[in-house]
Amino acid sequence: MFSLFDTFSGSLRPLPKTGKPVKLFVCGPTVYDDMHIGHARTYLAFDILVRLLRARGYKINYIQNVTDIDDKIIRRARELKTTPRRLATDFLHRYLADSRSLGIVSVNKYVKATSVIPVIINQISRLVHRGFAYATPRGVYFRVKKFKPYGRLSHQDITTLRSGYRAEPDPGKEDVLDFALWKKVTVPAEPSWPSPWGKGRPGWHIEDTAIAEKYFGLQYDLHGGAVDLKFPHHEAEIAQAESLSGRQPFVKIWLHTGFLTVSGQKMSKSLHNFVTVADFLKKYHPDVLRWLALNRHYHSPLNYTSVSASQSVNSLLSLKSFFAYLDSCRFVSPKRPAVTSALERFTRVWNESLDSDFNTPEAIAAVFSLVREINTLGVLYRSEAALIKKTLTSRLKEVGLSIHPSPVPDKVKELISKREVLRAVRDFRRADDLRDAIAALGFRLDDTPSGPVVVRNDLEITPLKKL
Ligand SMILES: [Zn+2]
Repeated sequence: MFSLFDTFSGSLRPLPKTGKPVKLFVCGPTVYDDMHIGHARTYLAFDILVRLLRARGYKINYIQNVTDIDDKIIRRARELKTTPRRLATDFLHRYLADSRSLGIVSVNKYVKATSVIPVIINQISRLVHRGFAYATPRGVYFRVKKFKPYGRLSHQDITTLRSGYRAEPDPGKEDVLDFALWKKVTVPAEPSWPSPWGKGRPGWHIEDTAIAEKYFGLQYDLHGGAVDLKFPHHEAEIAQAESLSGRQPFVKIWLHTGFLTVSGQKMSKSLHNFVTVADFLKKYHPDVLRWLALNRHYHSPLNYTSVSASQSVNSLLSLKSFFAYLDSCRFVSPKRPAVTSALERFTRVWNESLDSDFNTPEAIAAVFSLVREINTLGVLYRSEAALIKKTLTSRLKEVGLSIHPSPVPDKVKELISKREVLRAVRDFRRADDLRDAIAALGFRLDDTPSGPVVVRNDLEITPLKKL
């Protein structure tokens, strides 16, 4: 049975297969800037999870919200001398294009906040009606005091939370913890919608509960997002939804992904260490980022460095080289039991690791244990190699990876043959020179039981070398 770590209860919770679609909501982007690799880490983690669950036979209905109206959007549009609507549309297109480039294809529907304004207004009216919200001359706020479990998801005490707040911009608010559901426009040129409380725009948290109610209802299965959204965003979502429905829990399992740092530091404009997805893809194949995400448990923080990127390239290349070796095995003979039992062990560890809170680093480690074990068996027979390849291909596909060694050009093949001749006459110095020459052309060479295997390093984008 597949189980996931629920942040709310702090425990592993089973995800039963009921035949009905599992409803998953993941907090999507605020579209005022380009996607960076920190965002990508979260969206890749959920893409991998959804692909895996679907491969396991679950039906998943995966929705991401898009915040296309927000203070940050308005501010950025002013800086760039454009309109908030145009800015949001442009960055949404770029976000979707980056997601596609990264192979994130598992989202069923992206829903814009501006597409659910009537639902938002309806929810705020119901909250006001039940005493969970109140209007001031500047907007409408959620009355946190009225919702007793507030702070439970982030395991925080409401009194401590309150003392952490500084001066309040709206003197009409009853409590510093109260959060905006509706903000009245102060500048006539700003985007606004009519409402019972005057022209304005929604607060950030209410868009997610409105989208949830429209597509899922006010109780559903899985809600995910980056760890920094736990408070106040997800806490606010729970308060809104449970006050609206009068039922608990809003969400059965809360999933949070760890932070991504760059060389040990948080990404920030002032440190000039922002790595956008577009920057990353100028240097590396998208699989390199997926590989980085896979090799770290999704809760854990991930530290990105140029060294970790190179390590990813190397381990992916070694896997490509192993696949190329499998393709090179020609001898015909029946399969040995050692091979089938190694594969059975691998499949068991792979499944158990992923079934238990989606432990991808453990699953990937199992791939390399299998490779090491197989490499101790000497020359593989063709049928064995085919079975190993089939098993690995189908497992890796579950997490969105496909391993294809690129064709090797004739010029490189000639260098390999020359090197073999030199090795046969024990001229190892010149043979090593040729190995270096092959590496300099962007190819990795491994000597295997069935001879030299070469794969092209197509994971790092480097200027094309002349062959
Ligand atoms: Zn959200």
